[in-house]
Amino acid sequence: MLATLKNMIDGAIGVLNAVRRRRIVCILTLASLSASSMPLVAAATDSPPSLIANAARIIGDDARTRIVLDFNQEPEFEVHYLDSPARIVVDFPAVGFSFPTKDLAPTGLFSDIRFGSMGEGSARLVLTAKKPVQVAIAETKSEEDGKLFRFVLDTEIATKQKFADLLKNQTWQALAPATTASVTPDIMPKSSRQSDFMIAVDAGHGGIDAGAKGGVTGTDEKVITLTFAKQLTERLNKIPGIKAFLTRDDDVFLALSERVTLARQQNANLFISVHADTLKQKDIRGATVYTISDRASDRMAQNLAERENLSDQIAGVAVPNAQPEVADILLDFTRRETQAFSVTLAENIVKSFEGQVGLINNPHRYAGFQVLRAHDVPSVLLELGFLSNPEDEKLLLDDNWRAKVADTLAVAVTKYRAQALANGG
Ligand code: ZN
Repeated sequence: MLATLKNMIDGAIGVLNAVRRRRIVCILTLASLSASSMPLVAAATDSPPSLIANAARIIGDDARTRIVLDFNQEPEFEVHYLDSPARIVVDFPAVGFSFPTKDLAPTGLFSDIRFGSMGEGSARLVLTAKKPVQVAIAETKSEEDGKLFRFVLDTEIATKQKFADLLKNQTWQALAPATTASVTPDIMPKSSRQSDFMIAVDAGHGGIDAGAKGGVTGTDEKVITLTFAKQLTERLNKIPGIKAFLTRDDDVFLALSERVTLARQQNANLFISVHADTLKQKDIRGATVYTISDRASDRMAQNLAERENLSDQIAGVAVPNAQPEVADILLDFTRRETQAFSVTLAENIVKSFEGQVGLINNPHRYAGFQVLRAHDVPSVLLELGFLSNPEDEKLLLDDNWRAKVADTLAVAVTKYRAQALANGG
């Protein structure tokens, strides 16, 4: 099937290139216009924040719930609402959260609570509610002669109508992923490729979205993904002609579409997103390579994609309900071509892992991962192993094991690149 697809694409490619050239001229002006409105992604933060939240607690029931945070300085804050599901979002300047996560375990009105960095100079608390809610009191008070500033958030159950009014009447514009403002930057042809083969290495999760947690050591997935992503980037950059770069190089949150945009902005030839999630079945272990597909290969793949796609929601990013469908035959061709390349890459990775790095059964799977949806960048999502399995957790924390995985990936990428070059890609 792959062969037929490739033949078809090869036949169409001549026509495509001609059309592409014309299109580039048409959109160039648009591109230069929209470039200035593309938000900059936060650069690496330098010094730790001076505002520290030392302690936190939550009490309440299904009607009223109080959240208290103790700060070392008076914090500025803004309270907002988000819908589908109902959420309360509190934005702060950069905060060092130094209390245990379990002190804000979801209770009372809330089914999920997250807090963490949202990039340079800002932090966020996101409370996902079980039902419509409203904030009754949000204030800070100085305690202990100004040695402590107590932030108190009193929330209570609200009617659907009241919650809808609160949503409608707020002036706040929810932080939206970079590419939702307009669909154009996302489908624009990438500018001319450099001679280097560019690889975007995407460390899954980050900042407020910590991802999964190791069952034994409690290590956050976001830490493991970043550590490995750095290791892999360094390894890939040793290969002549390859230039690997990171979508994030520290503990910041990136919306899924921002990751895609960053890869496309740098004219990536490949996109590799790195993860280490948990499963309910604790005995399952080994690596999995995912490619994008409207239909999931199996239930496990579907569940995993659904959970990964929740990242934006966890961070309180407003996600548009549906991406406008772009009816464009050119895009369709590119998308199919890209998908075939993604599959080739996934197969290469599986092959190079065999006998070297543990794999699960049927290690190449597919599902509707948002982060893999660049139509013109072959993309895979790599689950290195599962944090729900103690043996896998041990390996994920082992520097030598990670180096070996980086080595085998380097082999797979080199082989893929040779194939791509032979095909004129
Ligand atoms: Zn993940």
